[in-house]
Amino acid sequence: MINGNSIQRVFILGMDGAGNFIQHTDTPIIDAFLKKGASTLTAQAQSPTISAECWGSILHGVTPEKHQLNNEVAATTTFPSDSPYPSIFRLAREAWPEAKLAAFSSWRPINSGIIEEDLGIHKESLPDEELVGAIENYLEHNLDVKLLFMQLDEPDAAGHKFGYGPDSKLYLEAISKNDGLFGRVLGTIEKLGLLEDSLVILLTDHGGGGDNKYSHGSDHPMDKNVFWGCVGPGIEPGTEVPGLYIVDTAAVAAHALGLGLPENWDAKLPSFVGK
Ligand SMILES: [Zn+2]
Repeated sequence: MINGNSIQRVFILGMDGAGNFIQHTDTPIIDAFLKKGASTLTAQAQSPTISAECWGSILHGVTPEKHQLNNEVAATTTFPSDSPYPSIFRLAREAWPEAKLAAFSSWRPINSGIIEEDLGIHKESLPDEELVGAIENYLEHNLDVKLLFMQLDEPDAAGHKFGYGPDSKLYLEAISKNDGLFGRVLGTIEKLGLLEDSLVILLTDHGGGGDNKYSHGSDHPMDKNVFWGCVGPGIEPGTEVPGLYIVDTAAVAAHALGLGLPENWDAKLPSFVGK
């Protein structure tokens, strides 16, 4: 059961388009981290299994039919700040007008089109490696951050270019490289003494190579199955997480922060969280 009284902040750390292919390549950091908490290799991406739809659900707690985001909408418009489907960032801002909130996305439309503007969120969009440097720098100066989101992009870029799946060497290498970048962020969190009283969620938004070797969007298991895990106070190491949809990420994060879940969210609390 998540011990909410012990949690001061939440980190949502993601990479794009990695599915559950961490099991087919070297990801020592993620593997070791997931063992320390609750995890699964068969969480389900939302349908359609596309970036804006899936990150939109992760961050807004509702299915794509409700948040209405797609890649073009996310790239060209801002998310309405009076939407009935607030992001986890808007919930946090409404609860804590002064809290430090930060979003780092390699794929810029997450920051510009999925997370609301005008909430006083520290936002940066940079290529993966530079983004991680920016996160390290931010954390060192903002130990009191309440909610931090990260999205790295290279696995998805490599999948579109070289093909997704367990037989695509350069795709798997991109996932392994991102494992090292996750390690830098997790190492910084630990070095700064933030690990004991944080909830850290690791995830990806969708896989790929199901219907199309070089794409995603279908309901094929290669597109739908994704790794997901979280580590934090009160979560027993080795806990399995059956039946999770990535939309539920928003519920886990909100609950850990002590925020009530909006009634209209589709996000449900998995059983390991407790009530
Ligand atoms: Zn994606």
